[in-house]
Amino acid sequence: MANMDFFNPVRILSGEGCFRNFKDFVAFGSRCAIVCGKTSAKKCGALADAEAALRAAGIDYMIFDRIEPNPMLATVYEGGRLARVFGAEFVLAIGGGSPLDAGKAVAAFAANPDLAPEEIYTAPRKPALPILAVNTTAGTGSEVTPYSILTVPSLENKKSFAGDDLYAKIAFCDPTYTLSLPRSFTMSTAVDALSHAVEGYFMKKANAVSDALAEKAIVLLQTGIRAIVAGDLSLKTRETLLYGSTLAGMVISRTGTGFVHSTGYMLTYNHGTPHGWANAYFLPDFVACMAKAAPERAETIYKLCGVADSAELAALLGSCDEMPLDLKLSDELCVRYAEKTIGAKNVANAVYTVGYDELLAILRKRVGA
Ligand code: NAP
Ligand code: FE
Repeated sequence: MANMDFFNPVRILSGEGCFRNFKDFVAFGSRCAIVCGKTSAKKCGALADAEAALRAAGIDYMIFDRIEPNPMLATVYEGGRLARVFGAEFVLAIGGGSPLDAGKAVAAFAANPDLAPEEIYTAPRKPALPILAVNTTAGTGSEVTPYSILTVPSLENKKSFAGDDLYAKIAFCDPTYTLSLPRSFTMSTAVDALSHAVEGYFMKKANAVSDALAEKAIVLLQTGIRAIVAGDLSLKTRETLLYGSTLAGMVISRTGTGFVHSTGYMLTYNHGTPHGWANAYFLPDFVACMAKAAPERAETIYKLCGVADSAELAALLGSCDEMPLDLKLSDELCVRYAEKTIGAKNVANAVYTVGYDELLAILRKRVGA
């Protein structure tokens, strides 16, 4: 029988008002640490909704609004300390993937006062505080994944930690919070979601359930991406993207991601390229590589994306004028990034293990000077 092993314990609430009208916070405790970015949670209205809903429910709360894009390990460690001092019993994370990942880490550090920052990757720990997630971007799927991805300067890279305790208790998917996201970030986050569904499709852990989720997600996301390219940022487009990105998050909650992500981190860490934008450089070549081991699956991906081949997929991902794929790096940097990512666990987790020479050739082709 088909392998359909699957675990994803997140309660998803969706649609306009799903968070604003939620009342049962007390099920998670009476003191809450809100974790968010500097401006977006305010701009999209979710923070005001959170404060009103928590007050109405009689919950005391603190706000830690210092999360930067690609959150730093030091920032979330400090957030964990402040949440503990406040006596937080649960975390409410509001934002894109950065504040959601940060909220998970704050919840973990708050529950583990004896952990030094980098021990989050190595030491056993007690379960994190319960996490509620409100997303304001449609991309990372962090609201339904067990991963928290942090920037670690000592490694000159980003690094994830994971655990079943990092799954949100509830993911609130209200597309109206994503309306204020500018077009460039809308495109970048949509490509991140597409890369989750596509990479997940080629991971060794893909199975009947993750395939079904990925195939549906890809259709939604390519439709959404074409709408963004055409300048349609309507609520309907936002809904399509959020639906697709949450399904894609469920895919990677089982499968993990491939070299698109590990190589993309190099562009984000070293050149500040937003996460999904960085993925866009490498996703088409990833599919072409995977075709060497799984040609039928690659054909399915092209079909679902509405393209003939890898070159047409690259053209689609490069067709948004607000997300140009024009980074030009020296050969020395291409070599360094290939060396740094070839050993990543993402590389070995795929059905085809890309070789060093192949990865370097992709870097040279896509971002070489
Ligand atoms: P983000 O880094 O959370 O946000 C990017 C920018 O968009 C920030 O400046 C943010 O402002 C702004 N923004 C967010 N929502 C907005 C809104 N509704 N209106 C206006 N501006 C808004 O972007 P992201 O792509 O969602 O998250 C990327 C992070 O997620 C990376 O660190 C990546 O590694 C991680 N990730 C995690 C997973 C996972 O499974 N956990 C998977 C993929 C990626 P503020 O700074 O004010 O918030
Ligand atoms: Fe991602």
